Amino acid sequence: MSRSIEKQQIEAARRERLKKEKPLAFEKILKIADRFKAGLATPVVDIGFNLACNLKCRHCFTTRFAHKERALSPDDLRRFSDEAHELGLCQFVISGGEPLILKNLQSVIKALQPDRFHLSMSTNGYFLTKEMARDLRSWGLDKVKISIDDFDAAKHDMNRNKEGAYLKAKEALFNAQEAGLSVVIQTCITHQNCRTDRTLEMAKFAQENGFTVDVMIAHAVGEWEGKHDMLIDADDAAYMKHVNQQYPSLHRDTFPTYGIERGCGSVNSNLHLTQYGDILPCGFIHISLGNIFEESFAAILKRGMSIKHFKEFNPLCLSGEDSNFIKNYMSKFYGKPLPVHWSEVFTPEDFV
Ligand code: SF4
Repeated sequence: MSRSIEKQQIEAARRERLKKEKPLAFEKILKIADRFKAGLATPVVDIGFNLACNLKCRHCFTTRFAHKERALSPDDLRRFSDEAHELGLCQFVISGGEPLILKNLQSVIKALQPDRFHLSMSTNGYFLTKEMARDLRSWGLDKVKISIDDFDAAKHDMNRNKEGAYLKAKEALFNAQEAGLSVVIQTCITHQNCRTDRTLEMAKFAQENGFTVDVMIAHAVGEWEGKHDMLIDADDAAYMKHVNQQYPSLHRDTFPTYGIERGCGSVNSNLHLTQYGDILPCGFIHISLGNIFEESFAAILKRGMSIKHFKEFNPLCLSGEDSNFIKNYMSKFYGKPLPVHWSEVFTPEDFV
């Protein structure tokens, strides 16, 4: 059986399970393609509920976010998820920081209404024991995204500033799978490591073990602010497409999903909600489109979709690949407390 047919079958089985377990979320997911054609945004919202973490990764950007008085509570999440449901949204990702160190994690998951939404979690996997994986599944989580920087344990541990982090992350993959969670390996691809055996090795490992690989391309933000030599080029992008043909489990968010060629999904298919209520076009674009403590989510989403860079189709990742957007917009928040307000970056010409 070809690998792409095998992948389609795994995907079909996952959808069947979602249909059975979460019919309300499933119905909304079925509408995504039609909504996209009609120009309606259906973003997956990544929620950085709390920036606290047990590791100190070299590439982390959370330290650059300015502290604000009011932070998200589970009650705020409940209200936000009600509004997101009214708007037809269907997927959340709980990120951070590291969600597995949260004492109130079960309340956070409950506030996001697991019966109405497909729920994922981004984690470094350090605390993802078998027992924790079973708890997450029973609380309504569908998927975990575990970060692996390299298959060389020493390199991963050095990057994460923690001896043993690699072994814990690797164990976490199988603990989650055993508990019935979908498992994604999240990895960062730079210009330096893209066209190396590492990319192939990761894709092959995922394919053989029933995982997928979500590629996060390098961004010149956070600890890498201004380091444009790490950004991928056109040859790197073509190489990843080539690997995807051989190993469909390796995926970039600019690749088609649900049969739709969406290109960069900022606002349209992705949003990030910060610990302090700001909505960003994506986790790497540190420009606030508005704050949910000050205005409705619907108004913020409407503003995002009225900015032409997010409304119009772009085949390249705006924040990590599109040199025009990086030079003219990303660089405007370099060196500033984050996120910056949209009015500091966009002028009337940027709106449709
Ligand atoms: S800017 Fe890049 S990372 Fe952000 S949504 Fe677009 S493709 Fe994804």
